[in-house]
Amino acid sequence: MPRKMPRLLCLTAHPDDEAGAFGGTLLHYAALGIETHVICLTPGQAATHRGGAKSDEELSAMRRKEFSASCKVLKVTQGKVLDYPDSLLDRQNFHEVVADLTAQIRRLGPDVMITIGTEGGVTAHPDHSMAAIFATMAFHWAARSNRFPEQLQNGLTTHQTQKLYYGTALFSIPDRQPISPAPSSAIIKLTQEELEAKIAAFKCHTTQSPLFPFFEGTVRKRGSGELFHLAATSKPKKAELETDLFAGIE
Ligand SMILES: [Zn+2]
Repeated sequence: MPRKMPRLLCLTAHPDDEAGAFGGTLLHYAALGIETHVICLTPGQAATHRGGAKSDEELSAMRRKEFSASCKVLKVTQGKVLDYPDSLLDRQNFHEVVADLTAQIRRLGPDVMITIGTEGGVTAHPDHSMAAIFATMAFHWAARSNRFPEQLQNGLTTHQTQKLYYGTALFSIPDRQPISPAPSSAIIKLTQEELEAKIAAFKCHTTQSPLFPFFEGTVRKRGSGELFHLAATSKPKKAELETDLFAGIE
């Protein structure tokens, strides 16, 4: 049987995180023939900017469409929006959310996972922190036969993803809550074309258009690379600077 293509799984909290935080990296790996998958935990129904939506349900539906359009621009193999409640991720049942994500990882079998940092990214959003924490435990527990053993039937097996990265940054946004991000250990440099596509993908999120000028300004000023912190690896090793998240992947 031919070896499957390497797989990247990106776990986020809100539609627009995939473009804003990881757009360049998703494009970069798609261009290298790697399968890219995005799982977004919430449909973003608690957003401040609502694009004229009359209800949370209407905003959710709009943002799911925007997410699909953004994933298309970013050449994502498969993008999924789950149905957890926006801005309430810290009040969800930890066991249930991690079980859900563990099952997704066991089904998909990614080689590398990327998610937001536990500080919550530069916006310090609590949902971002929770996405990181849920993703981290699902990363570890998907590999263990004594975690959620009830999932291990009908051909579903444990899966040890080889690396987990947190997105990180070398700056903070003034007037936001303080953040303590993980130090960067990997950089994915973006071509001008990738940078433009990342901005275009973010702009698919039309309900969030009041954020466009700030986002575009920040990306043009600081966005020549996306930074990561290697948070866990299946092959214990000393930290080193990387320019490829798939370095050392078998
Ligand atoms: Zn977000």
